[in-house]
Formats: sequence, C-alpha cells, structure tokens
Amino acid sequence: MPELPEVEVVRRGLERWVDGRTIDEVEVRHPRAIRRHTAGAEDFAARLTGLRLGTARRRGKYLWIPVTGGTPAAQTAAEGIAPLVTPDVTHGLAILAHLGMSGQLLVQPHDAPDEKHLRIRLRFADDLGTELRFVDQRTFGGLSLHDTVPGDPDQLPDVIAHIARDPLDPAFDDAAFHDALRRRRTTVKRALLDQTLISGVGNIYADEALWRSKLHYERPTATFTRPRTAELLGHVRDVMRAALAVGGTSFDSLYVNVNGESGYFERSLDAYGREDEPCRRCGTAIRRRPWMNRSSYFCPRCQRPPRP
Ligand SMILES: [Zn+2]
Repeated sequence: MPELPEVEVVRRGLERWVDGRTIDEVEVRHPRAIRRHTAGAEDFAARLTGLRLGTARRRGKYLWIPVTGGTPAAQTAAEGIAPLVTPDVTHGLAILAHLGMSGQLLVQPHDAPDEKHLRIRLRFADDLGTELRFVDQRTFGGLSLHDTVPGDPDQLPDVIAHIARDPLDPAFDDAAFHDALRRRRTTVKRALLDQTLISGVGNIYADEALWRSKLHYERPTATFTRPRTAELLGHVRDVMRAALAVGGTSFDSLYVNVNGESGYFERSLDAYGREDEPCRRCGTAIRRRPWMNRSSYFCPRCQRPPRP
C-alpha cells in the first residue's frame, strides 16, 4: 500500500507531466475503477472531457488534481458520502485519485502497449505524445470527480474535508496537534494513524518514528508534554523526509513511473520488519506484536511498555 512518500512521488510526477493539459478523451476499461462515480462510465467520461488539469495536490496519502472548464453544473453525486450541490462560481472541481493497494498513474507514449491491468486512459488535446493511464491490478483504487471545499486554498475535494494536514505541510499546526493528543483518550500509535489528527503516517513510519522517540506504541497520549510531542513530530518528519529523499529519485525519468517504487523498503529500517534482529541502539532483539490487524515492531528495552 502506498504511503505518503510514494504518493508524493506520484504527485510530483503529475505536476511535471500533466499540469495544464486538457482532457480530450476518456476511456474507462473497467467499471470498478470509477465505481465512486455512481452515474457510470459514460457520464464520467463526458464530465471529464474538456477539463483542464491543474497542479496535483496531496494531503497525507490523498491525491487530487483540481480542474477547470468542462460542464460541472451537471455533475453527479460521486462516492455517495455527501450530496453535491450545483457548482457556482465559488465551487471548483477536482479529480480524486484513490491508489488503493496497487493503483498506479503512468504517463506513457500513445503507442506504448497497454498494461495488463490498465483501467482508465486519459488522452489530451495536445501533441505532446503522451497519455495518462490508471493501472490497478487489484482494483481497490480508482478515480472520481468531486466538488471542492468552497474557498479552500488547496481546492480540497469535499469528500476528504475531514482529513488532517500531514506533518510535512507548512500549515500543519504543532500546538493544535499537541492539544488534540492530550484531549484524546488514546495511545500514541493509534493517534499517529488517526487521519483526522495527522495524515500520511502509515504503519511503517509510525513504528520507525516511535523507535527513534523511544516510545512504546501503547503509551497513553494524555500525559504527553509539549517537548515529548515536539520530539515525536520531529522524528516523524525525519522518517518521512528520509523516505521522500529516496522515493523522489524515481520520478525524474522520461516517462514518469509515478507508482511509488520508492526503494525505501530496501533501505535499512530500524524497527519495522526486523523481528528477532538486534536493536541498532542497544542490541536487544526487536519484537513484533499483533496490533489492530497489523503488526507493531519495537525494542522491548528502548521502548518500555507503559505500566498497566
Ligand atoms: Zn533498543
């Protein structure tokens, strides 16, 4: 599953390769990939045709492309979460990309052979010779068109209005995050994975940041001090930046391979995936515990469990 750095790689690829291009033709090859657009494939294709893509944006693992033009007034209720109002001048539109477990956005030459799991193809009204393809082996992902939150500077799609900013966002509010941690009767790893508090921190990055912070994943957040929160956020940011630095090397090729093959997993992680291997700080064997249908990796010496 793509995590924030992988999604950022995709975003940069889109920014570089499709920003400003106008959609000329939409081909939906698998209905599941547009299932969040309840009016169906024909409607989806008709709505998107003529739209001009803006600069791709990201919040946490959510990725969207604001669009202009087209015929937004007849837009249908996508995703069924909130009824869409008829757009007026204060409303914008955005294409939300759900990468799911295996979704990829590829910019390919027109004559490149179709990928086996090609689901959606967008052709552009220009002569750059490339098209945008949504490829998804497991079809958990897809594209959908949404209204944006009125007045939102990021043109955030309304269906993800509840998603918090991620810690690399310059507008992320550290003090508000700390206050929310204290208020919330929760434990630290749950808080890190709560997308309404902080977005973009997946299981791997949480385990790595907790190891660096010497915090057990079940540590209650109610007693966190400001310095402890600041230290934790610092480690979360360091882990993400390190992953970004590695992941960010793959997009700068002739045809964007914007899938997040970031290579981060080949790097030496400190905790995640290292069960029974020695802690790089103290030599104690790293442990793995089941946690909310996933696993938590930690050093039992450096990251003492809280007293019951
Ligand atoms: Zn240790």
